[in-house]
Amino acid sequence: MIANPLPSSTTLDACNGILRTVFGYDAFRGPQQSIVEHVAQGGDALVLMPTGGGKSLCYQIPAIARQQAGLGATLVISPLIALMHDQVGALHEAGVSAAFLNSTLSGDEAYQIEQQLLRGEITLLYAAPERVSNARFLALLDSLFERGKLSLFAIDEAHCVSQWGHDFRPDYRNLTVLHERYPGIPRIALTATADDLTRADILERLQLEDARAFVSSFDRPNIRYTIVEKKDSTTQLLRFIEREHEGEAGIVYCQSRKKVEDMAQTLVDAGIKALPYHAGLDQKVRQTNQDRFLREEGIVMVATIAFGMGIDKPDVRFVAHRDMPKNIEGYYQETGRAGRDGLAADAWMAYGLQDVVNQRRMIDESPASEEFKQVMRGKLDALLGLAEATDCRRVRLLGYFGEASQPCGNCDNCLNPPAVWDGTDAARKLLSTIYRIHQMSGVSFGAGHLMDIVRGKATEKVTQYSHTSLSTFGLGSDFSELQLRGVLRQLIAMGAVAVQGGEFSTLQLTAESRAVLKGEVPVMLRESVSAPADRKSRRNPRLGAVVKAPINLDSEGLLRYSALKAWRAEVAKEHNLPAYVIFHDATLAAIAQRAPQSLDDLQGISGIGAKKLEAYASDVLRVVALE
Ligand code: ADP
Ligand code: ZN
Repeated sequence: MIANPLPSSTTLDACNGILRTVFGYDAFRGPQQSIVEHVAQGGDALVLMPTGGGKSLCYQIPAIARQQAGLGATLVISPLIALMHDQVGALHEAGVSAAFLNSTLSGDEAYQIEQQLLRGEITLLYAAPERVSNARFLALLDSLFERGKLSLFAIDEAHCVSQWGHDFRPDYRNLTVLHERYPGIPRIALTATADDLTRADILERLQLEDARAFVSSFDRPNIRYTIVEKKDSTTQLLRFIEREHEGEAGIVYCQSRKKVEDMAQTLVDAGIKALPYHAGLDQKVRQTNQDRFLREEGIVMVATIAFGMGIDKPDVRFVAHRDMPKNIEGYYQETGRAGRDGLAADAWMAYGLQDVVNQRRMIDESPASEEFKQVMRGKLDALLGLAEATDCRRVRLLGYFGEASQPCGNCDNCLNPPAVWDGTDAARKLLSTIYRIHQMSGVSFGAGHLMDIVRGKATEKVTQYSHTSLSTFGLGSDFSELQLRGVLRQLIAMGAVAVQGGEFSTLQLTAESRAVLKGEVPVMLRESVSAPADRKSRRNPRLGAVVKAPINLDSEGLLRYSALKAWRAEVAKEHNLPAYVIFHDATLAAIAQRAPQSLDDLQGISGIGAKKLEAYASDVLRVVALE
């Protein structure tokens, strides 16, 4: 049986109406409108949109439109059981009938949902990919299909089908059963991972070659990118959080479980509400920490990359990388978790020589094939290029995803153009020292030893190997260690110095060294950047504590805003949902600014749909009256 297409004239009207009345938004973002229209009419789609771009509406609105047209329920495949409760809760708040089927339900609860589905009472059903290998589940879909009540398949986080990402989920490969068993039912696959390899993999693995692809701009203009040179990264990070994000929610990514634990403790000791998250923690602890991050305000999650997929908390104000990630895809996906609500947010990263050395070594020493390693090295190089860049970070990032753009005005390099110095001379001295040491001793040494020689420091080790007699000894005594480190990092990033593994990393020349040695390739470096200026918190004397609102509010407005937040916290607790599911900060701030006195005054505020208006208007009016 083929699902009926909807006539196009009415589809767009219907979808526009749903956007306004159900979700309370007045316009589609970017390509949302064409996607929604295409899918509502029964077309297959592949949607590539950055994190925070607004993917959910791309299937939720067609699902509602098709249900209203009598075509039945939409099945949403979502990889994370732990998040389904909140996803469904958010739809309930908007007045949409939704449910999930997963292992957390009792047999009786699951049965109730199946019956509701068969009665046509559910518009969106969420399930994990492993369900499609379950006979009882397929029997349920069979019944719906036979009655013509299976309307759409939405495959979220579709990159999980590909082994090129770090989120590979073998169960995603079985999803081909959906269109083989239920031909003619439209499918929409969505992902924020955009590189060509992954994209090709998704199309092939999910057999979506004929689907229409919708590729959005990957720009997230509200995110400010900053990459700093690592000095004391713990202090640097602490200062960044205290200066710019006091009391706000954020994520700090660290490379190892141990670093996660240490960093979380350091932040807690500094009075910051921080929690750890990594795969080594007990499942219960992980779940509790994730719930607290989603439900409480101002929690900083310190995590490995095990954390974050599917987290749709909109008010994460910063994402910090204490250590350098492996590649730009990972970096972009992780930083994309900041500022989904469209308000100002920060992506902050610290990186240093040791990160470069570590990442290179990890690739070199991995058991993967040489071909795979080559791909990984290329990806690391692109990230190093970004970190070393003296021009607009965003232009580089978007360029990596094949998108041309102009300097953004909202990254560290645009805001404070770094002074650049010519490190060619220092680079030549370092390279010729590596060459001479090797000639003299037949072995290679690490970065510290090398810099000691160039700076003319006769350490015990330098003397022991008679490296004081090298002609380059002390030739670079006017350079600081920091400067030489920068030069070395740049040389490694350029491939003009190779890092050899082993217990200590040693440095060697490469085929590319020659051009630098001869002075044919200049080595330009950014000067060490100083700390950014303080952003002033808005302290309100009548409130005592710091109140930050997403828009400028006068003191009365701030009072209303914090009263609304307190009220929202109670409602969220009662409903066992994160606060942002009730209303976003931006919606509360808009209400606080408008100071509504009647139902009419609430009309047209973004984020208040019909159901929420009905459920909460009288409360909201009472709260803003500050009685
Ligand atoms: P993604 O899944 O692509 O990361 P989401 O679907 O979670 O993004 O959307 C990000 C945020 O943007 C959500 O809080 C959502 O409510 C909001 N949003 C999405 N589309 C619109 C729109 N057209 N107008 C206003 N807000 C929107
Ligand atoms: Zn820029």
